[in-house]
Amino acid sequence: MKAPRSAEAFAAAQEILPGGVSSPVRAFRSVGGTPRFIASARGPYLTDVDGLEYVDLIGSWGPAILGHAHPSVVWAVQQAASQGLGFGAPTERETELALEVRRRVPGVERLRFVSTGTEATMTAIRLARGVTGRPLVVKFAGCYHGHLDALLAQAGSGVATLALPGSSGVTEATAAETLVLPYNDVAALEAAFAAHGDRIACVITEAAPANMGVITPLPGFNAALRRITAAAGALMIVDEVLTGFRAGPSGWWGVEGAVGGDDGWTPDLFTFGKVLGGGLPVAAVGGSRHVMEHLAPLGPVYQAGTLSGNPVATAAGLATLRAADDVVYARVGAAARTVATALTEALDAAGVAHSIQWAGTLFSPAFVDPASGPVTDYERAQAQDTWRYPPFFQSLLRSGVYAPPSIYEAWFLSAAHDDDALGRIVDALPRAAQAAAAA
Ligand code: PMP
Repeated sequence: MKAPRSAEAFAAAQEILPGGVSSPVRAFRSVGGTPRFIASARGPYLTDVDGLEYVDLIGSWGPAILGHAHPSVVWAVQQAASQGLGFGAPTERETELALEVRRRVPGVERLRFVSTGTEATMTAIRLARGVTGRPLVVKFAGCYHGHLDALLAQAGSGVATLALPGSSGVTEATAAETLVLPYNDVAALEAAFAAHGDRIACVITEAAPANMGVITPLPGFNAALRRITAAAGALMIVDEVLTGFRAGPSGWWGVEGAVGGDDGWTPDLFTFGKVLGGGLPVAAVGGSRHVMEHLAPLGPVYQAGTLSGNPVATAAGLATLRAADDVVYARVGAAARTVATALTEALDAAGVAHSIQWAGTLFSPAFVDPASGPVTDYERAQAQDTWRYPPFFQSLLRSGVYAPPSIYEAWFLSAAHDDDALGRIVDALPRAAQAAAAA
């Protein structure tokens, strides 16, 4: 499928924007071909500047749980915009949106709005250091928390190895304050705390990882994390920027943490984004009142933002969460199951070894030998047959299906993916699976 206007637009963009994009994965570097420049989106469909239509499987990388341009969200945004685009002063809508978050996730006793997931995790880490007076941050290999220096470190070699910078421009001093551990490995966590426990401010984890492909936390992993951090006086930060109000109505916490007994868990801090802003820039950090009240103006941990709690953005978030009722989550879950079932059948028929990885309504395929079980950590996620993904992706694109342009991303369905949209995906999968098999 040719996309001449997208090709032209990409060439023009590269003359002014590095790589032609405002965020790297949009450049299609790992899958090749011309990134599609999008003109509009409605429901489950994207339309590019050539007028080509695609069933969308990225949903703006998560926010579009209702589908694109949902009437009640667009109406709320238009109403809010007509009353002014931003004031730099408090609004009642911020309280309303924060209360909606707390209704779903009661562990959020207090909430601070920011504009991006990166700011949310950055604030959470500063808070943890401010509250504990300790320097070290523990993260897990393969978990993504935004592009702040402290969390770009990717892979440590073994327990409590001090990480190398994951990006040029991150100083060794910063990287040395981040310990990177293998995901799902309680023994590694215990060893890190045995060696450095009195210097660890916090452990940050994705509630269920979805940035090395989707990974289901092993039963008891998050609960162990809660236990170990609490015993050592460190904070547990659960990043639900991606899973929040997406994996289920109360995020992955609602799926797993909310269960009673020993396997339940509630962190000191949560971070949210994506669905919380319904497609506009809203993110947040929230958690226990004790910890959150260390933030300025009540406490000594400084944090601020010109656009934080923006009235138009919070209107989009509030309208989205209010519309995202149980029916919506049931539809998203059913759509995900339909696509995942067709995907696994197509890959089986083409003889492509794979595992379908799940977390609530989120899933992604991994091209691994299923005999070894699902992918549980970054090492195995990286060891999959990644070269099969570009031809698979390109085949889907030619058939009018816009899958994530990287094998390490979740597939995002929405409540707007109706039988027609799902049928187009299901019809496109066998050919794409054959392309993957031929690679
Ligand atoms: N945390 C997680 C789990 C994410 O998936 C992302 C973005 N994909 C972020 C943080 C960063 O959010 P943002 O891109 O809004 O800065």
